[in-house]
Amino acid sequence: MRWGFGATGRIGRSNMTIQDVIVVGAGLAGLVCAQRLQQAGHQVCLLEKSRGLGGRLATRRIDGVPLDHGARYLANHGDRLQQLIDHWGRQGILAPWQPQTFELQADGSLQAQATPQPYWVAPAGMNTIGKHLAQGLTIHRQQRLISLTLTAQKTWQLTAELATDQSLVEHQARAVVLALPAPQILPILAPLEAIAAIQPLRQALATVTYAPVITVMAQYAHPRSQASDPLPCAPPDPWMVEGHPDTSLFWAGLDSSKRPPTEQSDLKVVMHSSAAFARDWFDLPDLPSTGRALLGQASTCIAAWLREPQAWQVHRWRYGLVETSCLEALLTTSQPLPLAACGDWCGSANLDTALESGWAAAAAIHTALGGKALPSFPAGLLDLDAASH
Ligand SMILES: Cc1cc2nc3c(=O)[nH]c(=O)nc-3n(C[C@H](O)[C@H](O)[C@H](O)COP(=O)(O)OP(=O)(O)OC[C@H]3O[C@@H](n4cnc5c(N)ncnc54)[C@H](O)[C@@H]3O)c2cc1C
Repeated sequence: MRWGFGATGRIGRSNMTIQDVIVVGAGLAGLVCAQRLQQAGHQVCLLEKSRGLGGRLATRRIDGVPLDHGARYLANHGDRLQQLIDHWGRQGILAPWQPQTFELQADGSLQAQATPQPYWVAPAGMNTIGKHLAQGLTIHRQQRLISLTLTAQKTWQLTAELATDQSLVEHQARAVVLALPAPQILPILAPLEAIAAIQPLRQALATVTYAPVITVMAQYAHPRSQASDPLPCAPPDPWMVEGHPDTSLFWAGLDSSKRPPTEQSDLKVVMHSSAAFARDWFDLPDLPSTGRALLGQASTCIAAWLREPQAWQVHRWRYGLVETSCLEALLTTSQPLPLAACGDWCGSANLDTALESGWAAAAAIHTALGGKALPSFPAGLLDLDAASH
């Protein structure tokens, strides 16, 4: 590590090791991509702006009990994800969850739905999937990539800002994968705008849009149903409500029913706002008022007891759910140096797409760099426990 003044004039440290590949973003797409490249023999490291791993596979704790405030479950999956689900199910990382399901109608009423195929959830929290996939990888946490440039030695230079003290760290790599929501990639590529080969990527990235989501995680001590509640099932039976675009709710569900039973009798509910609600409330500084507004909506549409939680937290997802996706499985170029961009915006906008896109990004970078054979699916991801011990 060397100290000096970076391109921005701010003092920073330079990481002297030139990596084969730096993957930016430790969400599902980035972790899968990094595992595949590392198993193909490349020297790989990840940069992640947060302390936690998994990105929107996110879990918080209230009173030590996990609540999933990002991805709720795995469903509608393709063959590859199904193979992982089966394997993670056998390992106890995932378990089936079969809630009574209701659909919120435009007039505010709830309509019961046919019992769905079981969804797959992580009883210890959805972030355990990220932790599992991170095994054996070198990850620099709390480093937010702010720019990507070229060095005179024909390597990528990545400048990252440390969350702890805002100092800069510089890294170099022969290839880079940006596994981030598309709108977060665009400013990183700004220093490369004069390079013709980067233009198609920037144009495609600019077509992608995300909807914000506001999420409330709430704990209830002794909730009592009322006869007038639209929700016909009483706590603690598992339930979830699918929202309606014309209402304030996108989804709500009894998160505590995803967990093994405990001594605690309290219930935990997660509520996600609609995009319209999030756009109206997102930038208001008073987070508690935002949370109370969503709790009020949920209490009217679902059950009166939702209005008064014992404890609650609010989270804002600026890039929550993909609204307009890109039709490519990934974006990539080999000029001026190998670069790929991937994530859930490359297709159907869910965990399945993130997995497929990260897997495909690894293949594109491997083709550009060369090396021993890539692991085939799913072996590379199933053997993690053995590989990291
Ligand atoms: C409320 C909500 C509910 C959802 N429910 C479901 C569901 O039930 N089922 C489903 O399939 N999908 C669901 N999704 C979508 C699913 O979570 C995403 O499709 C998937 O997690 C995206 O993975 P990803 O790797 O593409 O991106 P992310 O998970 O967003 O990963 C990107 C990572 O990059 C990091 N990062 C960003 N910028 C930088 C930077 N400059 N430098 C370094 N790191 C950076 C982020 O911190 C993050 O860790 C939900 C999403 C939300 C928000």
